[in-house]
Formats: sequence, C-alpha cells, structure tokens
Amino acid sequence: MSFTTLALRPRLLDAVSEMGYTRPTQIQREAIPYILDGRDVVGCAQTGTGKTAAFILPTLHHIKPGSGLKALVVTPTRELAQQIGDVAREAARFSRHRVAEVYGGVGYEPQLKKLRRGVDIVIATPGRLLDIHERGEIDLSGVEVLVLDEADRMLDMGFLPDVRRIIRLLPERRQNLLFSATMSSGVLSVVRSTLNDPVHIETTPSVQPVDGVEQVVYPVSSRQKSDLLVNLLEEQHLERVLVFTRTKHRADRVFRVLSRAGISSSSIHGGRTQAQRQKALDSFKAGHTRVLVATDVVARGIDVYDISHVINYDVPNTPEDYVHRIGRTARAGATGSAITFLAAEETVALHDIERRLGQRIECRDHDGFDYSADRIVPMADRNVSTKPRALYSGGVMRGRARSRRGRSGRGTIGARK
Ligand code: AMP
Repeated sequence: MSFTTLALRPRLLDAVSEMGYTRPTQIQREAIPYILDGRDVVGCAQTGTGKTAAFILPTLHHIKPGSGLKALVVTPTRELAQQIGDVAREAARFSRHRVAEVYGGVGYEPQLKKLRRGVDIVIATPGRLLDIHERGEIDLSGVEVLVLDEADRMLDMGFLPDVRRIIRLLPERRQNLLFSATMSSGVLSVVRSTLNDPVHIETTPSVQPVDGVEQVVYPVSSRQKSDLLVNLLEEQHLERVLVFTRTKHRADRVFRVLSRAGISSSSIHGGRTQAQRQKALDSFKAGHTRVLVATDVVARGIDVYDISHVINYDVPNTPEDYVHRIGRTARAGATGSAITFLAAEETVALHDIERRLGQRIECRDHDGFDYSADRIVPMADRNVSTKPRALYSGGVMRGRARSRRGRSGRGTIGARK
C-alpha cells in the first residue's frame, strides 16, 4: 500500500515523499482514514511506530492554513513537543500551515511572538499552555482538532488536572485523537466524557517491544555496573549508545565514570536545563558524542534514527518504561540491541517485565569481563547467590563449568521454575 491510496491532499503527499516515507506504517494505514473521516480515535501505539505522522497528516488535511488556531496537540515533555513540531513543519512544507511549539523551561517571548504572528497548529506541554492562556496570549476558541499524545505518560507525570482544564477551554464540538503506548482505564478517564463514539485502534499489544530489537540481560552486581559498562563500550566498540539510569543522580554519576574513562558522552535528564538537554541531544545526533546517558522522563523525546544499542544500566521500574527505552533503537524498521544490567535487587522488576512481555529475555555473561569473586547475582530461581560463577546453577549452565571451558555462559533467567 502506498501513501497515495490515503486520500490526503496532494501537498501533504508531496511533503510525505520529501520526508522519505514510501509506505504508511500500520498505525498510519489504520488511523488516517478514520481521522480523515472526522472520527474520534483512540490509538494504542508505541513511539517508533510512526504515530506522529499518523495524527499530524490528517490533522493538517482538515485545517485551512491562515484561518487561525485550529489544531492543538498536547504532549508531556518539551522534547516530544519539539519532535512533533519538527514532523508537523516537515509535513506542512508545501501546504504552509504555521506550526508553533509551546513548552516550559525556556523564555516566553519567542513563543509569544510566534503565536502573535498567527498559527494554525500548536504543539504544547500542559503547564506552559495554561500559563500562556492565562496571560491572554492564545485563543483556543477555534480549536477543531485536539490530539492528546502519550496520554499514559501525561497521567504518570500528574498532568491529568491540567489536561482537564485545557479540555474545558476548548469548543465542545471538535475531533479528539488520543494516543497512548498503554491503554488503562486511567488513561481513558482523561477524555472519556468528551470522546464521541471513538474508534479504537491497537497496532501492537501494549507492551510488545518493537520488532527487530535483540534483547539480552547481563547479571552483574551493582558495584560492577560501571566497570561492565566501560568494558562493553571499550571492548565491543559500541557506537551510538543510549544508556538509561533510574535517577538523574545516577545519570550524572555514569556520565562522570564515562568521562573519566575517556568515552565521549553527554547526559540528558529532568534536572538539566532545556539548553543543556538540547546541546546534549544535538551533539549525540551529530555523532560528536558516542554515548547519551538518559532517564525515563526524557526518553520519549529522543528521536535519533540510528541508535545501535540501548543499555539499561538500571532495570526500569515498569514494563512500559522498558518498552519505551528499547524502542529508542530499531526505529522504523532498523535493527538494534537492548542490553539490561541486572543486579540482584532488581530481579522482581525484571520478572514483572518478562511477565508482561510474555517472554523470557536471554540471560548471559559478557565474555571477557572479569566478574569479581564476590559478586552478588541473581540465580536461575531468582534467589541471590554470593558465590562466584554460580549464576546458572541448576539452570541451563553452571558458571564454574563455563569459566573452565572459557566459553560464553547462556541461560534464561527463571528457566527452572
Ligand atoms: P514516531 O512513532 O512518530 O515517533 O516515529 C518513529 C520514526 O519513524 C520517526 O523517526 C519517523 O520519522 C519515522 N517514520 C514515520 N512514518 C514513517 C513511514 N511511513 N516510513 C518510514 N519512516 C517513518
């Protein structure tokens, strides 16, 4: 199927071909016809599926450029707002819709200037949008299409009251599009009362990881995580690596460790200013830094094409975060690897992820890394072992046998129940 079979305006189709898209992705094939039809749509789709274009293209199709603000996209983070803004600008290249982003952490004036010049579509984070509305600088009374992007993340980040306030500022008659990586009743509660007979579209089960990602778990004690990371980066010559940590402090710590080891890296998390984040992201995108260390809060804004490896320095707290993190690699059909470091105290979280994914993740040692004699690692039965090289005892392979034979130990965590 090609894009031309979707009844989008010729100028949008021209833009699509300039963007290099030849065939619509699944979410685009399924959602665009309904959105063009004017239906409300609830789409369950992860990032990496092409969902941004799935809502931007038909939204632009509906609105006449130059007739005032007609479409509003609300999204949880500034990185996402910028990323959606970029897609919107590319899509509007020939139709000349005017796009503006509105997000916090930067000065008001450039954003206000843009709004005052007139816009057709605004991409906003909730808090800044409400601020600007309170200042009387944005007129939402003409909005015909509302997109709520990453609704689950907005809920997690506590934006539900803000989103409700925004909805109350909009005309009642409008088209609603809600996208979320996971679909819980909490997510639907955001807009249930205002949705009008929505079409539900689910491209992939909510916590299915993106195809094409090779996943592996490396059990390692907390104390050896940074050594293992440096070893992997040095020995395996991994390029374009995204490393996730649980907290911003840990991100800073990993960044310092990498700097000391002479590995070019930068870090991006909620504790850094917008300018710092942008600089880090730009230098990673441009290939000046090999490694970007990030936390989950900013994960979804990282739209870099050719990330070869995602390393979960810490096991993420939720299966959804796991899927989002590893979805940063293998974007739009490419392949990639996701490596998860597993300390003994993280086995429950990993178990939860595996249960929700409905699959076991391959578990092995990293060849050539000197696991110290006192490492504390999870055993196959998820109990903790303090013995060296006893990782898979009772499981697929015994560690001592492995080290004697000097070949790679492979096992599956929890293989024996
Ligand atoms: P998203 O899920 O919107 O974050 O998109 C993921 C990536 O896929 C982005 O880098 C898009 O530029 C890219 N993409 C979106 N739609 C297509 C398409 N039809 N063909 C190729 N790449 C696409």
